[in-house]
Amino acid sequence: MKKIAQVIVDMPLMQTDKPFSYDIPKHLRDVISVGSRVHVPFGNGNRLLQGFVVDFLDETDTALKSVAEVLDFEPVLNKEQIELADKMRHTVFSYKISLLKAMLPSLLNSQYEKLLIPRETLSEDDRQVIFGSQFSLSANDLDKTLENKVTRLARSGQIQVDYLAKDRKTIKTETFYNVNKQRLSEVDLGNRAKKRLELQQYLLENSQDGKIAELNKCFSSPVVKYFIEHGFLETYKVEQNRSDDYFGRVEETDFLTLNAQQQNVVDSVTEKIGQESKPFLLQGITGSGKTEVYLHIIDKVLKLGKTAIVLVPEISLTPQMTHRFISRFGNQVAIMHSGLSDGEKFDEWRKIKSGQAKVVVGARSAIFAPLENIGAIIIDEEHEATYKQESNPRYHARDVALLRAKYHEAVLVLGSATPTIESRARASKGVYEFLRLTQRANPLATIPTVQVVDFKDVIGQQEASNFTPVLLDNIRDRLAKKEQVVLMLNRRGYSSFVMCRDCGYVDECPNCDISLTLHMDTRTMNCHYCGHQAAIPNVCPDCQSRSIRYYGTGTQKAYDELEALLPDARIIRMDVDTTRQKGAHEKILETFGNGGADILLGTQMIAKGLDFPNVTLVGVLNADTSLNLPDFRAAERTFQLLTQVAGRAGRAEKAGEVVIQTYNPNHYAIQFAKNQDYEGFYNYEMDIRRQLSYPPYYYTVGLTLSHRDETLLVNKSYQVMEKLRSYLSEKVKILGPTPKPIARTHNLYHYQIIIKYRFEDNLEAVLNDILEWTQEPDNKDLRIAIDHEPQNMM
Ligand code: ADP
Ligand code: ZN
Ligand code: ZN
Repeated sequence: MKKIAQVIVDMPLMQTDKPFSYDIPKHLRDVISVGSRVHVPFGNGNRLLQGFVVDFLDETDTALKSVAEVLDFEPVLNKEQIELADKMRHTVFSYKISLLKAMLPSLLNSQYEKLLIPRETLSEDDRQVIFGSQFSLSANDLDKTLENKVTRLARSGQIQVDYLAKDRKTIKTETFYNVNKQRLSEVDLGNRAKKRLELQQYLLENSQDGKIAELNKCFSSPVVKYFIEHGFLETYKVEQNRSDDYFGRVEETDFLTLNAQQQNVVDSVTEKIGQESKPFLLQGITGSGKTEVYLHIIDKVLKLGKTAIVLVPEISLTPQMTHRFISRFGNQVAIMHSGLSDGEKFDEWRKIKSGQAKVVVGARSAIFAPLENIGAIIIDEEHEATYKQESNPRYHARDVALLRAKYHEAVLVLGSATPTIESRARASKGVYEFLRLTQRANPLATIPTVQVVDFKDVIGQQEASNFTPVLLDNIRDRLAKKEQVVLMLNRRGYSSFVMCRDCGYVDECPNCDISLTLHMDTRTMNCHYCGHQAAIPNVCPDCQSRSIRYYGTGTQKAYDELEALLPDARIIRMDVDTTRQKGAHEKILETFGNGGADILLGTQMIAKGLDFPNVTLVGVLNADTSLNLPDFRAAERTFQLLTQVAGRAGRAEKAGEVVIQTYNPNHYAIQFAKNQDYEGFYNYEMDIRRQLSYPPYYYTVGLTLSHRDETLLVNKSYQVMEKLRSYLSEKVKILGPTPKPIARTHNLYHYQIIIKYRFEDNLEAVLNDILEWTQEPDNKDLRIAIDHEPQNMM
């Protein structure tokens, strides 16, 4: 008997980071489940808070407050997810409620009203008792004695539940019609009602069911409405999935026959499905057919009656990518990424929850997809930093994947052409099973040749700032051969900043210690951190000089230069500015793929996953931007990016070439990228990491403290460091506190402390202590972020 519910309430504080007990009133006992969302009174004022039921108890001695309302007929979380939050809490210094909420589509975390709608199958008696003469009923108005009955009917699908969030319907429906042919043929509409006669004629000739929306389009809605009101048309509603149209447009494709290396990988992986196994690291060069391998693994998983999750970095979730999965597995696929509307996300979630979707392809948060019986979890481009969430809760999808794979005895495959140094080291130590693909899958494709061009060698010879003569000659050559070119510039905006040549004044954001970026499309100076906008200065605000100039480069400037140099070339630009609109990304790639442009010029979003056979030249305009960042992973990131972008060239018969322009041609990251020598890079980088005690030799935790008052912040930061020193062992290295590389944003100063450790039993407890300490009244405006294995030191 469920008498007491254990509830985690939506109050993200250390003191409330545990379940509270509530009495379950009799009328709710059959309705409530583990994973249900509830409203419960909390605190002295008994304000109603939302919460999740995580467990039940039989009894307790003390008098308890009661659960006020159960929000769901079907629990929104399952037991695995609730356990997952408990396990994650050891390394993610956020609160359980934040972890649980991260597992749900945002629509279910917002305030809404629950609406009950009878379905066709509901018996006339039940309909009368529950709904009376109403078409639908708000759950708030439901007679409480009927709650159990309604729950039963909702669970068996006879009552539909809709959530009205901020006046928006979460469930999308389409209205269809039936023609009442008998009545329609007998009616006389008179000769003057021309429109009505037309519709009558049409319906008598085409009397199968159809969509009301289509009739409205062809015959105007007042006419259609007249027909409905007179009973010539009967209407009914059908639930829709917002992505049905998108899925409908994808054609089926066949599985490719694997080559021996691919087959070997698929065999090694699939034989472990359903057993506890080590994670697999699949290191396969670009174009080696990793995606085809994933498709075969999933095929096997489905044949075993199991399900699969495929994680792909957000910017690689191109239509090209998703189509490959949909074209093989059709409606069994659900796609989840941030480009979807809240409603679309909710639909995909429901599709998974109901069991229709068995293969989830998505970005980071798709790792929480509520699949049952998982057979495989695949993380493509496992080196991507985007798998770490940079805001609360700061989890890494790989860590979550490890926990879920263990729970389900699923295989976990981490795939990349350039694995992180950490993952590759784990493979060397046997923590991961190491699998490799060393050849391009298309037997005619070859590995591209790479040329490094030193900007310093061509000073004074350039026609335009972004293009060396070597690169330009190469581009001209491809244009003449009717081949395609991809150019990458790792920056957005027109110019990066504005500087006075006389006094050195730089136009900076008043809220953040960072220069403003010039945007020609909006003719403004923008802050990329806080969104501050200002006019473009014509004279220097400090010395009134007119020698104010634009420095740095941007995709738009490169585009303008290129257009002036090659007036006949058809160029498309792809960056954050040109892809802001929904579907724009898709359109650009489609145009380029169909040969509608000769040159694709873009930011790093072009480095991933593009597979166009006619691309024979890839140019990297400036390899240095990521090299000089104050982050120990700067070299690794640069190497990865250059290798990825080089992989876009020569993917079919035509040989590919890569030109990298740089001011640092001898930097090891660029040299190893030039030789496409991952192993060389790995060994060199491991040496550096060992010398500097960085991962994978040490684990790291980053603490970022923020406050408006810098003096106070420094003071508090030292207090935190003292706490760490006194509780942790001598072996731990503590760096800082130091100002962050970008020391101020949104009018807040930021200081950071880095902890480096190998084994440290006390660490979790100390960090939780610090979290609790920051909530003392004395520290009211102090903010803290505790980041386990931070991926971004900026
Ligand atoms: P990766 O994910 O490693 O970059 P893909 O799976 O995208 O590689 O494969 C690269 C190209 O090779 C694609 O065009 C794909 O269709 C093709 N390909 C993959 N496997 C095979 C195969 N076994 N036979 C023929 N072509 C293949
Ligand atoms: Zn000046
Ligand atoms: Zn700013």
